[in-house]
Parts: sequence; structure tokens; C-alpha cells
Amino acid sequence: MPELPEVETVSRHLRPELVGATITGFDALWHKVTAPSSAAAFAQKVLGRTITDVRRRAKFILLQLDVGLIHIHLRMTGRLFAGEPGLPEPRHLRARFTLSGDRDLYFTDARKFGRIGYVPALAALEARLGPEPLDEAFTPGRLYKMLRGHNRQIKPLLLDQAFIAGLGNIYVDEALHAAGIHPLTSSGRVVRAKAEKLHRAIRDILTAAIASRGTTIMNYVDGEGQPGGYAVELKVFGREGEACMTCGATVVKTWVGQRGTHFCPRCQRRR
Ligand SMILES: [Zn+2]
Repeated sequence: MPELPEVETVSRHLRPELVGATITGFDALWHKVTAPSSAAAFAQKVLGRTITDVRRRAKFILLQLDVGLIHIHLRMTGRLFAGEPGLPEPRHLRARFTLSGDRDLYFTDARKFGRIGYVPALAALEARLGPEPLDEAFTPGRLYKMLRGHNRQIKPLLLDQAFIAGLGNIYVDEALHAAGIHPLTSSGRVVRAKAEKLHRAIRDILTAAIASRGTTIMNYVDGEGQPGGYAVELKVFGREGEACMTCGATVVKTWVGQRGTHFCPRCQRRR
């Protein structure tokens, strides 16, 4: 599933392709792609509008319009890319934006969990999103206070988009390993030094993953159809049964809240 680095990569790639284009048509080829709005209601909001910016917030790709904005969530298998108008219909095409100029925007999605929506302002999305981990305002002290303010297992808490935005299964496992925190640790018991280490790990890992254009595990590809290059950097995710690169103990896979969870039992002792 695309996480912050993958969505950031797609957004950066699309920005120069889309900014300045006007939306002249919208076709939904899967009736739920704009749910809960109907495709007709969505089209009514966006037709004739001009794309003024493309950026990311949490795991959403945002197309800022001259009035309002479009948010697109790729979920499991969604892919958003610009291409020449009238391309032979790509496989699993669920929606197509016809644009002014020589580019159209295509949304393909094999598993059909991806969604496209419209909001008049970002505030409508912000209410259910936590801070951006790469923002300056996200400081070690802030993370420490946030963790102490909850008494939840740390892994599900870090996956909660209302707590912190953009992290998913891969990068949470990697960050907890780098910080030496067991995934079942209660957030309220994380000491300040560990919180600071976790803060550094989250930022370093996300920054490196963006530089590598993300991680490809299943089928994510960037805006140019290339797989992300970060998979070779993963220390625990997908490495169960292998030796921990830090200490040599065997990496374990377990389940935490129905999510496959990878950790090193020696580096990440439960406290
Ligand atoms: Zn280890």
C-alpha cells in the first residue's frame, strides 16, 4: 500500500504535468470511485476548474483547484498518472480526467479501494489527520507529548492517521526497529530518549525513502511507471527469518491488530 514516500513521489511527478490545466471532462468507469458522492455530483464540482497545484497531505494526493480541491487516495493498488489524450484504455481504468492541453489524467485500480473526492477547502480533511512527520512543527518534544497522551500499543497508534499522518505498515515497522521499540509497547510508557530516537528514525527513513522514490513491495510504481528503490534498504519489513542487520538475531513476524508486523526481538525488547 502506498505510504507517505510513495504518495509524495507521485505528487511531485504529477505537479509539472498538471498545473495550469483546466478540467474539461470526467468519466467514472467504476461507479464507486467517487463514493460517497456520485460521479455526476463530483463532475459538477470540478468541470471547468483549473489545477493550480499538486501536493500531498497524509496519504492523499491533492489537486488544488482555483475553487476547492480534489483528493485522491490510492489505497491498495491505485495508480494515478498523466498521459496523452485518448490512450488505449489502460487495464483497470476506473476514472479519467480530460484536461486542456496535451495531457489527460488516468486513475487505474485493480482492487477498487481507491477513492476520488472533492472538498471546498482542506479544512474538511484536516479534522481527521494528525501532523505531517516531516513538518518543522513536528518536533521530538511534540512526539513525546503525543505518545504520553495516549495509552495504546505503539504500532497501531502510529498507523492511526488521526495521530500522525502518512505512515503505514512498512515504515512503522522500520521506524520502530531503528528506535529499538517493541511494537506492542504502550505509548504512555515510552521514555523521552526513546521518543526522540523514534522521531529521528521516522524522519530519516521517510526522507531516504522519498529520495529512493518509495518502496515497491507488491505493485506500486511511481509516476513514470518505475518501481521505487527503497525496498533494498528495509531492515525488518519482509525479512522474517533473516538475521537482523543490527544485532544478528532472527527477525520475527507476528500480527498486531491484524497487520503483519516485523521486528527484532533483541533490538526491540518489550518493556
Ligand atoms: Zn536486532
